[in-house]
Amino acid sequence: MNVTETRSTLNKWNYAYRIGQPIVSDLEFDKLLAELATYEAAHPELVDPNSPTQRIGVEPFSGDFATVAHNAPMLSITNSYSNEETKAFCAKMNGKIGHHYKHHNVEFCVDLKIDGCAVSLRYKDGVLVQALTRGDGKTGEDITANVKTILDVPLKLPEGVWHGGELEIRGEIYMERAGLANYNKTQKKPISNTRSAVAGSIKLKDSREAAKRPLRFFAHTFVSASEPLPFETQSGFYTWCFTANMPVAPHWAVCWTIQEVIQTCDKFYGEESTVIQDLPFDTDGAVIRVNNFEHQAEVGIGATSPNYCLAHKVEKFEATATVVDVDWSVGSSGAITPRVWIEPTLIDGTVIQKMSLSNVSLLQKHGVRKGDIVLIEKAGKIIPRLVCVVESKGGEEFLPPSQCPVCDEPTGIISGGLKGDGQVVKTLFCTNEDCPAKLTRKIQKAVSRDVLNIDGIGAETINALVEAGHVKSFLDLYLLTEETLLTLPRSGKNLAKKMVAAIQARKRIPLAKFLQAICIPNTGERVCEKIAAHFKSLDAVTVATHSELLESGIGEYVAQVFMTWLDEGWLVDVWADYPPHLVDVDDYKDTAVAPDSQKLAGMVICITGTLSQPRNHFQKLIEVNGGVVSSSVTGKTTHLLAGEDCGSKLAKAQKAGIPVLTEEEFDAMML
Ligand SMILES: [Zn+2]
Repeated sequence: MNVTETRSTLNKWNYAYRIGQPIVSDLEFDKLLAELATYEAAHPELVDPNSPTQRIGVEPFSGDFATVAHNAPMLSITNSYSNEETKAFCAKMNGKIGHHYKHHNVEFCVDLKIDGCAVSLRYKDGVLVQALTRGDGKTGEDITANVKTILDVPLKLPEGVWHGGELEIRGEIYMERAGLANYNKTQKKPISNTRSAVAGSIKLKDSREAAKRPLRFFAHTFVSASEPLPFETQSGFYTWCFTANMPVAPHWAVCWTIQEVIQTCDKFYGEESTVIQDLPFDTDGAVIRVNNFEHQAEVGIGATSPNYCLAHKVEKFEATATVVDVDWSVGSSGAITPRVWIEPTLIDGTVIQKMSLSNVSLLQKHGVRKGDIVLIEKAGKIIPRLVCVVESKGGEEFLPPSQCPVCDEPTGIISGGLKGDGQVVKTLFCTNEDCPAKLTRKIQKAVSRDVLNIDGIGAETINALVEAGHVKSFLDLYLLTEETLLTLPRSGKNLAKKMVAAIQARKRIPLAKFLQAICIPNTGERVCEKIAAHFKSLDAVTVATHSELLESGIGEYVAQVFMTWLDEGWLVDVWADYPPHLVDVDDYKDTAVAPDSQKLAGMVICITGTLSQPRNHFQKLIEVNGGVVSSSVTGKTTHLLAGEDCGSKLAKAQKAGIPVLTEEEFDAMML
């Protein structure tokens, strides 16, 4: 047997398995591993502490773990619990090291904060020699034997990645929720959460026992190397990790403005985020770092934590609830998703009764049945999500409907789109192209504040318009006349007039918003922005190719979906059939404002009424100019930005003597 080759083969198979692309069956893997173990046992001179056979653990020891001094202190990270604190941190960095950057905008790397235990890994000549816990930050405990059992941790770095000398990196040992649930099945006393499970596992004195625990690892910090490495930034380190077979947590992003940092945190924990929902492991916030290592050093470290780094934390709330029922709702893409109804349950101060799951696979994965007790969780602004079934009562199973709950046409199932835990997601959908539920949702989305921002057209009106066959796409809205609107139930002359005016006021549509209004599957705000910024005009989008779409910075899967949509010819057939200038699609303009002016510093501005642009446009402007947006008029509000048709906010502001700005006055402040 060629021992080196066998070891390298096993390492390769293991890596492929871990990233969800297995090359061989488990049986084949185990067989070769057993052969190697037998061979090593017969040839003690060939035993290598980094052989894949070491993954199964070694003899237990007695006494305490050895304590070892850290080469560099293992500090904790300062926490922030609000966007304001996070913005203040970024602004401080811009002030300190902004001079290195264009527009004084420091580059930040933002990633998920994994809820586990930190570990420091030391490699010598490419081989893992020591793994230490954080300990008191100055010294840690030597848990090498246990860490070697974690399949994610490379025992030996791949050839060519590391040639010689010493290397130290840090990361987080964590456990997936499903892994813990499986492990608990074999235990008399189940462990309640993944973090305690990890903390207990890494301190086991019998590493053969640790090998049975489903421990995982993500790298997150580069400490030092005795040889130069080909990266100078946190993001560069993450890319390097890929070549070194070191797993890195998904969803990290490089941000160039404070606004982008907040948006990224929001992408993780904001109201509409599904990122956290789809992750198989626990997180408790985001970590924001100055991306460039040299600039990190320039900012330095404080007594207990680095100054260039901040943890944007979110509080988590949990509760248990009884499942009452499941019903199904149809979204704008035609996807039919389950809604789990529970007995009214209080969580984080609000009573909730239902939870939407993003796809039918989730319902099946959790195995939710009537009467089950489920654990629900709320983190950040995210609406509560179902974590798992804690007690199954063996009640009635909920099966996906074979007919659309709205139009009664047959449903179908498509599989595709891998999620964080490597599971293929099944989407249940209505096969009827003209399903009124789909159309209603699409139009609702199109008129919403974030897209076309057409005021005064509610869900009921849209429903009635779709039912009566007046509207088949958002473009039909622009063809509506007062006479047509008057035929709707509960309509009136004034109302009809107002609606037509509101629609016509939004005739000019920026390219990105136009794409968004069409409601192409998998193509949300960010994707539309990227496509618009790359292609600039609708004509260019019409003839886009797959490779050009990828150049615009959107992902492979989304590019495929978009290409399929383009090939279906909506832009060529449907769009061209509408009268010219029914709407005017404006070419993309780079509206990036010179950021971080402090023109609105200290101002807390509340926005109300109808303005010439969607509300988020003004929100962004206020934020990049150092101001703060408030959702209501309070004692802290310094200004009210008021458009047309203002409601109670205007009255309240006037009563409190808060200055009211028109849009023109607001624009003037920006000059
Ligand atoms: Zn339908």
